Amino acid sequence: MKLVENKVALVTGASRGIGRAIALRLAQEGANVAFTYLSSVEKGEALVKELEQFGIKAKGYRSDASDFQAADQLVTDVVADFGKLDILINNAGVTRDGLLMRMSEENWDTVININLKSVFNLTKAATKSMMRAKSGSIINITSVVGIRGNAGQANYAASKAGIIGFTKSIALELGSRNIRSNAVAPGFIETEMTDAIDGKAMEEWKQSIPMKRGGQAEEVADACLFLASDMSRYITGQVLQVDGGMLT
Ligand code: NAP
Repeated sequence: MKLVENKVALVTGASRGIGRAIALRLAQEGANVAFTYLSSVEKGEALVKELEQFGIKAKGYRSDASDFQAADQLVTDVVADFGKLDILINNAGVTRDGLLMRMSEENWDTVININLKSVFNLTKAATKSMMRAKSGSIINITSVVGIRGNAGQANYAASKAGIIGFTKSIALELGSRNIRSNAVAPGFIETEMTDAIDGKAMEEWKQSIPMKRGGQAEEVADACLFLASDMSRYITGQVLQVDGGMLT
């Protein structure tokens, strides 16, 4: 028996990077996978084909996670298409870095809405179906930056810290319904998001990590698989760091 056989998972922001690795890992372990993206239509279509190679049902939806009504409609569509929703992975996220003195209101709002409000939107919509089923696993992708803060990322750090507070609150509210809520906090993971960091700064970052390397998206996906599966059935309200010891 595979770890998430016949479960239905929804992964937001899976056209690239960590979300894509999570979608593939869950499919490999037998889950049927619904996923979203914002603008990467071709990558989304290609991912459906890759996921289907694992012999599971897969479908991509173009849906803005920061839009409350769109998120509600998305979950309605996923439940109609797949019959249920067992696992929600709130992964969609962006950065708009800058020091506070130069940070625009627009860059604050964009990051808070896409990274944090999206988690409220999707979780609120998904828990309706999970409460009926008396079962569910919600996994929110935060960041070590949400625990520690980071100069030049006040908006991003605030959004990721907010996710941790949200995750723990939902664990307290929904534990009695057998719905678990956990967060995964990646450190420095090599994706398009971190490609934006210049080479010298990237090397300095890596040297500051006890394991002396950046992480791979697949390493975050493995942690998500654990929290999605019954292997973690008595774990809720936790933040699992996947950071090579960066924040210890
Ligand atoms: P990425 O490569 O930039 O991918 C971001 C994904 O989010 C893409 O699929 C993108 O879709 C999607 N997305 C963006 N805005 C969206 C929206 N409004 N609605 C729906 N989907 C949206 O990022 P990543 O590095 O894989 O990061 C994934 C998550 O991990 C983020 O929450 C990030 O904050 C977190 N994280 C990353 C790192 C790291 O080192 N990489 C570290 C800690 C935490 P399109 O392709 O259509 O734009």
